[in-house]
Amino acid sequence: MQLTPPLGIFGGTFDPIHNGHIYPVLEGAEKANIKKVALMPCYIPSHKNPAAASSEDRLKMVELVCADHGLFYADPRDISRGIPTFSVDSLTEIRKAMPNTPLCFFIGTDSLQSLFTWHQWPTLFDLCHFVVCERNAESIKTLNSNTDNSLKRHGPQLQELLKKRQVFNPMALHSRLAGHIYVANTQSLTVSSSKIRQQLANNQSVDSFLPPKIIDYIQQHKLYQTRADFC
Ligand code: ATP
Repeated sequence: MQLTPPLGIFGGTFDPIHNGHIYPVLEGAEKANIKKVALMPCYIPSHKNPAAASSEDRLKMVELVCADHGLFYADPRDISRGIPTFSVDSLTEIRKAMPNTPLCFFIGTDSLQSLFTWHQWPTLFDLCHFVVCERNAESIKTLNSNTDNSLKRHGPQLQELLKKRQVFNPMALHSRLAGHIYVANTQSLTVSSSKIRQQLANNQSVDSFLPPKIIDYIQQHKLYQTRADFC
């Protein structure tokens, strides 16, 4: 089967989207020679998270980022469904629509650690590759020796998974539809949406964490103003 160039997919709550989402993925995509990445904000039922930004606002902020970076486009499929779904559902849908395209799902190292808790996680490797970006200086090398409880639990499993699936040449992502893990060794940015929400609610500066357009959007729409927003 003749394969088309790979498509990157980056899912998240993006509440709000921040530099720690944008720059590691720009760098990881460049290293892996991936020319398009779909940013896919997930749906959050309003009754579960009344204080954080609405699905519409999170999508709008993602669209503002896409307007500034040709690599990205917004994929609203999760939000449009209007019900909570799993990554496996979206990936199954994309795979059906793009049977000849390698799919590369971008995640941070924290998400790699928790991969074993994802719904139907082994099936994900039939649907996509994973491109792993570093987070909080948490190098993949330290993942297995870390003393954190979840790692103690999942460390050996993760080691096994990497032994089976890790590739060091990112071009391997171009020649198969799914199944590899590529650790992109991107520069780590210590920032999270929850920390940003907390700082905004406390009237502290977030200038170094967010693109100026996102700061403007948050101010114009009066998002993340109360302490309840970072719970
Ligand atoms: P919150 O603080 O609300 O939990 P978050 O900042 O972790 O949010 P999410 O939208 O939940 O952001 O994350 C989506 C994806 O982005 C995940 O795969 C996560 O690992 C990755 N990610 C988030 N922040 C970073 C970062 N600073 N560096 C690398 N990857 C990141």
